[in-house]
Amino acid sequence: MTEVVATNETILVVGGGISGLTAALEAAETGKQVVLVEKRPYLGGRVSQLYKYFPKLCFPTCGLEIHQRRAKTNPNLRILTMAEVTDLKGEAGKYTATVKLKPRYVNENCTACGDCAKAVEAEFEDEYNYGLGKRKGAYLPYRMAHPAQYVLDPRILGTEDAERAKAACKYNAIDLDMQEETIEFPCGAVIWATGWRPYDAAKIQPYGYDRFPNVITSVEFERLADPSGPTGGKLVRPSDGKEAKNIAFIQCAGSRDRNHLLHCSRICCMASLKQCTYVADAWGEEADVSLYYIDIRAIDRFEDFYTKVRAIEQVKFIKSKPASIVQDQDGNPVVHGVDTEGYKRYANTHDLVVLAIGMEPSVDKDSFPVDIVLNREGFIEADPSNGGVFAAGSASDALDVNRAVQHATGAALRAIQVVNGAAGVEG
Ligand SMILES: Cc1cc2nc3c(=O)[nH]c(=O)nc-3n(C[C@H](O)[C@H](O)[C@H](O)COP(=O)(O)OP(=O)(O)OC[C@H]3O[C@@H](n4cnc5c(N)ncnc54)[C@H](O)[C@@H]3O)c2cc1C
Repeated sequence: MTEVVATNETILVVGGGISGLTAALEAAETGKQVVLVEKRPYLGGRVSQLYKYFPKLCFPTCGLEIHQRRAKTNPNLRILTMAEVTDLKGEAGKYTATVKLKPRYVNENCTACGDCAKAVEAEFEDEYNYGLGKRKGAYLPYRMAHPAQYVLDPRILGTEDAERAKAACKYNAIDLDMQEETIEFPCGAVIWATGWRPYDAAKIQPYGYDRFPNVITSVEFERLADPSGPTGGKLVRPSDGKEAKNIAFIQCAGSRDRNHLLHCSRICCMASLKQCTYVADAWGEEADVSLYYIDIRAIDRFEDFYTKVRAIEQVKFIKSKPASIVQDQDGNPVVHGVDTEGYKRYANTHDLVVLAIGMEPSVDKDSFPVDIVLNREGFIEADPSNGGVFAAGSASDALDVNRAVQHATGAALRAIQVVNGAAGVEG
């Protein structure tokens, strides 16, 4: 049975992405007891799935590694993975949280040697790579996963694969009898850092994401470009593995649109500009990039990055919101629309099209286990009636990492004020 030592001065953090991890560490490093609940088998959230960060083009794994090291060495921080808060009762200063833990079927003896994965045959869609590749039925979600423990997919239970995994483990780490658990513990304040999810591109019917394999999303493109991703970082087409040198990026795919997301996610322009550099770096003079846009939203210091990408010869900027995409007989996506500078119709053929989809809240409006004030888009509002529950990072708005981390640090302070009994529950 999982035991959690907690009191009314404990801070509960829900979501272990960069925001939740930041809030948890900041609070724990002031001496507060913190319980961090993450539904995936590992920490890091969607940042762990990015290849590089704009605007510096450094690797997110650096920052994550520092956070993970801080988390490993802090005795005030208790991490529960594969866990979700199913109920939260009470009020600021005295809540009771109910948490459901899914079984990993691998215990703490695991050394991440990988022998179980070698022994298992069954393969499943790899959610870490947004379904672009396969992973084994016994797997380490990604190379830097924390905790560095393998997971057994419940679909192999009762099959020979499960027995093979158990037999292959030299450390007695496979526990096929692990059960789902529900635990309860007290806490005084809650930081809600459940982040965002990509808008479902299949809903944008004219772009054919669900029909054309060579129309992918910006989050998938991050995995494609990553050397540790499903293609080893080679920019190739999902349909036939052909090198993708002529790549189009379509901005505001499903954003600023009353049929989809009304809001602008602010980061999509920057993400696509960054991804243009992936293509230019991969193919040099042979790269042929088209970026279709309504307007480019690159504010403050990001403007310099935009200027740099604008100067890359292989990148064309086409001021237009494409009307539709069709597929030709060779599997090439053909983008149709009107160029609003010159009002010319176009039908442009590309190897691959990347839809810059927006960020929406990862938790649906009616799925919160506690009453909480949400805005029109479903992000958490700062509101006194939320009591001792505070949003952190992109659970509050579509934010880049820098802003998400600043927001999370503020949330940690509000939570500390509440558990200290100070007046910190207003807005
Ligand atoms: C294509 C693309 C490229 C991007 N590139 C950049 C970039 O280069 N630079 C930059 O600054 N920003 C970039 N961003 C934005 C960046 O991804 C976000 O700022 C960042 O992910 C926000 O972190 P977060 O912790 O708030 O949310 P998330 O990363 O979404 O983390 C939330 C965590 O909460 C967990 N969770 C969700 N629901 C529950 C639940 N019910 N219970 C428990 N846990 C739960 C999730 O599993 C996840 O681990 C990009 C975004 C996109 C779409």
